Amino acid sequence: GDFPIEVDTLVVGAGPGGYVAAIRAAQLGQKVTIVDKGALGGTCLNVGCIPSKALIQAGHLTEAARGNEDLGISTENVKVDFSKVQEWKSGIVNKLTSGVEALLKGNKVDIVQGEVYFIDKNNAKVMDEKQSQTYTFNNCIIATGSTPIEIPSFPFSERVLDSTGGLNLTEIPESLVVIGGGYIGTELGSAYANFGTKVTIIEGEKEILATFEKPMTAAVKKRLKKKDVNIVTSAMAKGVEETENGVKVTYEAAGKEETIEADYVLVTVGRRPNTSELGLEQVGVEVDERGLIKIDKQCRTNVENIYAIGDIVAGLPLAHKASYEGKVAAEAISGKKSEIDYIGMPAVVFSDPEMASVGYTEQEAKDAGIKIKASKFPFAANGRALSLNDTDGFLKLITREEDGLVIGGQVVGPNASDMIAEIGLAIEAGMTAEDIALTVHAHPTLGEITMEAAEVALGTPIHML
Ligand code: FAD
Repeated sequence: GDFPIEVDTLVVGAGPGGYVAAIRAAQLGQKVTIVDKGALGGTCLNVGCIPSKALIQAGHLTEAARGNEDLGISTENVKVDFSKVQEWKSGIVNKLTSGVEALLKGNKVDIVQGEVYFIDKNNAKVMDEKQSQTYTFNNCIIATGSTPIEIPSFPFSERVLDSTGGLNLTEIPESLVVIGGGYIGTELGSAYANFGTKVTIIEGEKEILATFEKPMTAAVKKRLKKKDVNIVTSAMAKGVEETENGVKVTYEAAGKEETIEADYVLVTVGRRPNTSELGLEQVGVEVDERGLIKIDKQCRTNVENIYAIGDIVAGLPLAHKASYEGKVAAEAISGKKSEIDYIGMPAVVFSDPEMASVGYTEQEAKDAGIKIKASKFPFAANGRALSLNDTDGFLKLITREEDGLVIGGQVVGPNASDMIAEIGLAIEAGMTAEDIALTVHAHPTLGEITMEAAEVALGTPIHML
C-alpha cells in the first residue's frame, strides 16, 4: 500500500531555484525534502549556464590560439580535439552537480528522485519507473524550470537541435544555422564561430538581442561580423528538410524565400515554463495565459502554502533570479518578512563582447518619469582594456539628476558580466555617483571604467575631455 511520507517542506525541482531554496529552508530549521525527476542542478548546471560557458571559453581559447595580427603573433596548425573539449565540459558539470549533492546532504536535506504530480494542496505523488509514493507536506516550493520551445515546422532531431543538442555535439560543425538571435542562440552561435564553424543567425525581429539598447548590440554585431557570422534579421524561418548529412533550411526575408544548407540547425526561439504536467489544476494554483504561475512579493501562489520560483514565474528567466526567489520563498515559509525586489537584478549575455544591464535603462527611467543623467565611459580610453587588446564597448551609469543616486547601469565590453556587480551593489546600497568616484579602484583595471563613469556623472572625469 501507499502510506504517505510526511515532510515539512517539499521542494519540487533541484535547479538553481530549488536547490538554493532547499538549503536556505534547511538553514532556517525546516525539515526539507527535494525531488527532481532529472539531475541535481537542473537546466543551469547540466544543460544551460555552466556547459555553455565552458564551450564559449573553449571557443575563445581556440580563436586566441589562431594568433593575433595586431600583436604580431602568428601560429600554425591550431587543432581542436572536440571530444576532449566535451570531456572537459562534462567534468565541470559533474564537479558542480556532485557539489550540489554534497551541499544538500550537508544541510540534511532529503533527496528524492522522481516526478512530482500534485493531488491536492497538501499531497503530491512522486513517481519513478517502478512505483508511486505519496508525500504529505505542510509547505511546498515549486521550481520546475522551463523547456526549449519546439516550432512545428522544425521538429527536433539529430540535425535539428535544441540548446541541449547544441551543447552536446560530438564534432565541430562546418556550418550551422541558428534560428533565433536571443541570448542563447547568440552565445552558442558565437562559440561555434570561434571554433571555425560558418554560422548564420536567422532572427524574426529587426535586431538580434532585441531587449538590449542598439549601441550595445552594435558592439556585439561588429564582432560577429568579424567572425564571419551571417546575421539575417526580419526573417521568418519556414521549414527544414533533412538531407543525407545535413539540413536545408528555408526562410523568408525581404519578401523572398531563401534556402540555406548546413550541417545542423539550432533552434533557440524561447523556453516555456514546465507547469502544464504538474497537476496544478487539482490544487487550484493559478497560472497566466503563458503558463507562468502567479505569485506575490514573497513568491507565494494564490494557494497559501504553495510557493513558486524561477523560470516558472514572470521575470528574467535566469539562474541568479531563480536562486534569489528561492531564498525569499524559503525565508517567507520560515516566517521572515523577506520580499522580492527586482531593481538590483542583473541581466547578462555572454556574447563577445559580453553585455550586462542592471536597474533602469535610460528609456525605462524616462518612461517612469525619473529625471536622470546617463554617463558613458568607453573601454577604448582604459589602459587595461588597451593592454587586453579588447577595447570595443562602453559602460553607462544611470543616476538620478537631483541627487546622483545610482539607479542603473549597462555595460558592453570585456568582463561586463563581472563589472555589472559593482553597479548592482551601488543600487542595493543606495549609493551615489560620488560614492563610486570616491572609491579608489586599482590601476590598471577595467573597474576604473566604472569610477570614471561616476566622475563623468559629477562632471569631473580625469581621462576624458
Ligand atoms: P531549472 O534549472 O530548469 O530546474 C528545474 C528542475 O525541475 C529540473 O532539474 C527538472 O528535472 C525538475 N522538474 C521539472 N518538472 C518536474 C517534476 N514534475 N517533478 C520533479 N522534478 C521536475 N541563466 C543565467 O543566469 N546565466 C546563464 O549564463 C545562462 N545560460 C543558459 C544557457 C542555456 C543554453 C540555457 C538553456 C539556459 C541558460 N540560463 C542561464 C538559464 C538558466 O539555466 C535558467 O534560468 C535556470 O536554470 C532556471 O532555474 P530553475 O530552478 O527555475 O529551473
